[in-house]
Amino acid sequence: MKTIGLIGGMSFESTAVYYQTLNQLARERFGGLASAEILMHSVNFADIVALQKAGRWKDAAARLAAIARNLEAAGADCVLICTNTMHKVAAEVQAAISVPLINIIDATAAALKAAGKSRPLLLATRYTMEDGFYHRGMERESIEVMVPQEPARTRVHDVIFSELCAGKVLDSSRLELLSIIEAMKTQGADSVILGCTEICLTLDPAKLPLPGFDSTAIHCDAAARFAFADDMALETNRKYA
Ligand code: GLU
Repeated sequence: MKTIGLIGGMSFESTAVYYQTLNQLARERFGGLASAEILMHSVNFADIVALQKAGRWKDAAARLAAIARNLEAAGADCVLICTNTMHKVAAEVQAAISVPLINIIDATAAALKAAGKSRPLLLATRYTMEDGFYHRGMERESIEVMVPQEPARTRVHDVIFSELCAGKVLDSSRLELLSIIEAMKTQGADSVILGCTEICLTLDPAKLPLPGFDSTAIHCDAAARFAFADDMALETNRKYA
């Protein structure tokens, strides 16, 4: 089994899901008391949010690149950035290490493509929905991402930062997210990407008005396929929707 390096803490609410999911996947694959080999650096999310708000992406990239280098030096065979948003600086992080950075956008695009979806609604932070890095990653697989119109877009961003990242899961906000999905379905969305690693805390991808693709689960599965590949056959037909 290879060692999985996690850059976590963005937020710790979703990093806990990564930890739990990777270990459960190891147990499913190997049985008994097996668990995943994991190294993690969990950051102070407040520092990262301050850099995001100030638009200091180069500084954020340098911080995550240094962490990735440390994880590699400590023995990680791959690195995951446990947030969609910070994949804005994925190229800089990959350039700092010689082991693979398992990219959440690439993994999600592959899952959509395998399911024959090409027009997903993206629910994510404002950075991910508006910056363009996510859309470009999807376009490489001929997937055209849709995002909610305002004011729904701001509402999704606020639910992520003010509630989910702060450990608050509210029924009222879940209903709002579901009505945003319903509205975008009528505008042609064929699927929905839970494109923020905390959204799985409030939405079950199997119980949505459109087929759901949970970026956290997909990212963990990609890491597990990489890390467990030496030990047993790849499970290639895992279903996300
Ligand atoms: N975890 C979230 C994401 O997947 C947001 C936190 C962040 O801004 O990094 O985008």
